[in-house]
Amino acid sequence: MSTIDWKNLPFNYFKTDYNVRCYWRNGKWGELEVSSSEYIIMHMAATSLHYGQEAFEGMKAYTGKDGKVRLFRIEENARRMIDTARYILMPEVPEELFIEAVVKAVKLNAQYIPPYGTGATLYIRPLLIGIGPEVGVRPSKEYLFMVFVTPVGAYFKEGFRPVNMMICREYDRAAPLGTGHVKVGGNYAASLLSMEKAHEAGFSAAIYLDPKEKKYIDESGPANFFGIKNNTYITPASRSILPSITNKSLMELAKDLGMKVERRPVPLEELEEFEETGACGTAAVISPIKSIVDPDTKKIYVYCKDDKPGPVCTRLYEQLTAIQFGEIPDRFGWTKIIDI
Ligand SMILES: *Cc1c(COP(=O)(O)O)cnc(C)c1O
Repeated sequence: MSTIDWKNLPFNYFKTDYNVRCYWRNGKWGELEVSSSEYIIMHMAATSLHYGQEAFEGMKAYTGKDGKVRLFRIEENARRMIDTARYILMPEVPEELFIEAVVKAVKLNAQYIPPYGTGATLYIRPLLIGIGPEVGVRPSKEYLFMVFVTPVGAYFKEGFRPVNMMICREYDRAAPLGTGHVKVGGNYAASLLSMEKAHEAGFSAAIYLDPKEKKYIDESGPANFFGIKNNTYITPASRSILPSITNKSLMELAKDLGMKVERRPVPLEELEEFEETGACGTAAVISPIKSIVDPDTKKIYVYCKDDKPGPVCTRLYEQLTAIQFGEIPDRFGWTKIIDI
């Protein structure tokens, strides 16, 4: 597809040719099917529409410097979707089926995989939804697991760039013993209003506090939080945080680079002590944080005085993206090359 302007692609839906689907009926998974339709026909009383029986995942395929296409830690996404499915009483998608479906969706849409050097990647979206009719509150008897892909542009158009965030006290994205730790659409519904308010106030994201005591940092909307001080990578441990695979990888990289790593509750006051802070997830890898404003205490925590990302954020970002794009050897065994 030489007509696609890879360098100016937004992070948005872009139509590709095929998606793959698999149905759970009568207590078992059927055959993997290929579809060229962008639409799903389902019952109007489907449990995903009424009671939020919906799980999703998000990852990317990267064209490397060597022209090969790589997936990053895809087994981790498969296992996380299993955890999500169990928690909201949906059938598990076996790891092998998950990987087969992802590889198939990528291969079928090979012409939409952005070339190396454009910063663009092929975003992969697996989802699992209850499609059977129920009016009473109970799990569906039928499910659809599907995977679609869409090419997306580099997250930071002008390069890796620090952003401003605000502490959110007015709303929570998750309850103390709720669904914050699993990847369900409902968590996003709960965060839309506060995200919109943060954007309107000029911030790129809201940082949520722990929903029980409001004393600790939880995470920032769709990305985990970390802080750096005294050669230590510190990231919150909390029941209501979604375990990010990017964060898990950054923790391993930080250790490998000779840093200490701590995963523990992070009190709000500790923001004062960090030398650098960042938000991490598949979309941006790392969003270095320039400043965090607390609208209630009026405190402003500043991390990038000259608008430049800090040295640790930069090092971690460069290392992780170099592995993803095959620019340096994958010493962790994180990538899977697929034959296109
Ligand atoms: C998906 C997600 C993340 C990021 O996870 P990655 O595996 O790194 O992409 C972080 N927080 C929330 C709430 C998420 O849904």
